[in-house]
Amino acid sequence: MELKKYWQPEAETMPREEIRKMQSEKLVKQVRHAYDHVPPYRKKMDEAGVKPEDIHGIEDIRKLPFITKYDLRDNYPDGMLATDVGKAGCVRIQSTSGTTGRRVIAYYTQHDVDLWEDCTARAITAAGCDRNDVCQIAYGYGLFTGGAGLNGGSHKVGCLTVPMSSGNTDRQIQFMQDLGTTLLCCTPSYAAYLGESLKERGIDPASLSLKAGIFGAEPWTEEMRRDIEKSLGIKAYDIFGLTEISGPGVAFECEAQHGMHVNEDHFYAEIVDPDTLEPVPVGEKGELVFTCLDKEAFPLIRYRTRDICVLDPTPCICGRTFIRMAKPMGRSDDMLIIRGVNVFPSQIETVLLNEGYAPNYRIEVDRANNSDTLDIYVELGEEQFGDTVKSVTNAEKKLAGAIKTMLGISPVVHLVAPKSIQRSEGKAVRVVDKRKLID
Ligand code: ADP
Ligand code: ZN
Repeated sequence: MELKKYWQPEAETMPREEIRKMQSEKLVKQVRHAYDHVPPYRKKMDEAGVKPEDIHGIEDIRKLPFITKYDLRDNYPDGMLATDVGKAGCVRIQSTSGTTGRRVIAYYTQHDVDLWEDCTARAITAAGCDRNDVCQIAYGYGLFTGGAGLNGGSHKVGCLTVPMSSGNTDRQIQFMQDLGTTLLCCTPSYAAYLGESLKERGIDPASLSLKAGIFGAEPWTEEMRRDIEKSLGIKAYDIFGLTEISGPGVAFECEAQHGMHVNEDHFYAEIVDPDTLEPVPVGEKGELVFTCLDKEAFPLIRYRTRDICVLDPTPCICGRTFIRMAKPMGRSDDMLIIRGVNVFPSQIETVLLNEGYAPNYRIEVDRANNSDTLDIYVELGEEQFGDTVKSVTNAEKKLAGAIKTMLGISPVVHLVAPKSIQRSEGKAVRVVDKRKLID
């Protein structure tokens, strides 16, 4: 049987006018649902002086108030759960990993789970996989959406699903070998670690059956993609999502590997200026905002993700008509302000990989003498480890210079022994901001 190109071709290749019409119809219904059944959102709409009757289509979305993570936290644990659904109508919860310190609980009906799993099935199909594939899922299972989301999509597609969860690298590699895993799903930082582990064990990636990987849940750079593709011998696809909106699969990459298609039949994406909250022109950078068009239990409208990115409306060679979002550079709350300059960890990662280092690093920010300090710890490669102190010092200076060119501020670079920086099995923690510990 020929390989299926799209999981749901009628949706994924729908003409743009039809997408907009569908989004308009769904938005009108969803606003009514949220107004009637999500009391905190009703309050927000009342305060903003907008009624469900004022919303006639997607062009009216600008009239609606935003929801932020603070609203979710204030309404913990179930204040934003639709009252007509209630806990009795739900079949599952998931919870954020709390990367930025605040846990949120998201609720799902069976219908919500089905839509979500269709989204991950679309991603798996776009990565060139079907029922003949062996899909090893090394995202964490449990409250985190990664494991559950990809697991559901893999079942739908009919892959042989291997629910490994994260960690236990030896066992991961053994299962890849014994079961002939073709598709690996995990965070990009764990994928990089698995690649490094293969090398360490002297296993040639070509001896495995791996052909593709679906990696997401944290920011990663193009340079890191190339690194992973090489070390695992695969094509690496990005996937994006967040618990509040459902989980991984809100957007996914196709064979073009150039931005992720937003599943626009279920989620409406906007980019707004994070200060003025006004929409920015298409193609400009800003904060990503999502509206769930057909979720029942947790129908978030205009949810501010804090992710900074750009939308690309140009047609894609894959034939999908859904708009694409660029890799988020990081979240507005990942952004460090160092000596008045905005710094995203992903910018530093780009320089490291361009300069030939592995993506194993730690960024430490502190204050000394009323000024911010920036220290970057980077691992030496095995081959550099035996170098003289002088050549290591020169290498540190060279790297510091390249980072200064990128950021406009000078860091202190410390090249440290191979394997001395802790590896991550889930989302990597790469920044230690000691300034925050003081205030
Ligand atoms: P938490 O907010 O606790 O990390 P989630 O697990 O729901 O909880 O994480 C969602 C966030 O992860 C997104 O808002 C985004 O910042 C980040 N993220 C997810 N996928 C990607 C990706 N492919 N690229 C960059 N960032 C991503
Ligand atoms: Zn495409």
